[in-house]
Amino acid sequence: MSTTLPISPAEAARLADDLESRSAEDVLRVAVELFHPRLVLTCSWQKQSSVLVHMLSEIQPDVRVVEFDTGLLFRETYETRQKLIERYPVRFQRIEPELSVAEQAAKHGDRLWERDPDGCCAMRKVAPLRQALEGMDAWITGIRRDQSTTRESARKIEVDERRGVVKVQPLADWTNRDVWRYIWRHGIPYNPLHDHGYPSIGCVPCTASVDSGADERTGRWKGTGKVECGLHGD
Ligand code: SF4
Repeated sequence: MSTTLPISPAEAARLADDLESRSAEDVLRVAVELFHPRLVLTCSWQKQSSVLVHMLSEIQPDVRVVEFDTGLLFRETYETRQKLIERYPVRFQRIEPELSVAEQAAKHGDRLWERDPDGCCAMRKVAPLRQALEGMDAWITGIRRDQSTTRESARKIEVDERRGVVKVQPLADWTNRDVWRYIWRHGIPYNPLHDHGYPSIGCVPCTASVDSGADERTGRWKGTGKVECGLHGD
């Protein structure tokens, strides 16, 4: 990560105002102009990842696309990643936690996610994010305002002062319906778990299916009160 922000919070706020009514593709074009090659897209291979990989492959396929492979993802998620990187000419990179799942169990006890999900996410997601943002000025995410109350104030451009990067969130104003309309219109591969009651998908032990119409992220860390993994909104 850079030690200083590439643009000031005031500049980011002005840019966010300018881009608020612009399309997701325009937001990505501006981000590429301003920040490439110090620009990275992180992917969890949910439906937003499908949209952003498709868009970036047309705008600037040379942007780094990073996956945090916790070792605990669904088989369908790995298959979706494979389909996307086979179809699109993106610069894909997998980042894994320092400890394998077995090593983590040996060091911290089995099924840490049940006793200390924040600690587990810190090792398996947040530390890899630090690695992904090393030397980067800007980070593209698939956050949407309507996913949860923790995300409802997301802007298309924000600064993450703690990490020293600009967050670029081209889909901030998209609805769930917008995402699906785009995927269907362009015939983009997507995670099939979305068709089986999983509007939001993370690691297997911490993701449950939800009833139709429930908030998108209610199936994540169900019943624990935890709503974010520590990458966003903290
Ligand atoms: S989502 Fe669950 S299993 Fe995955 S890193 Fe976080 S606590 Fe661990």
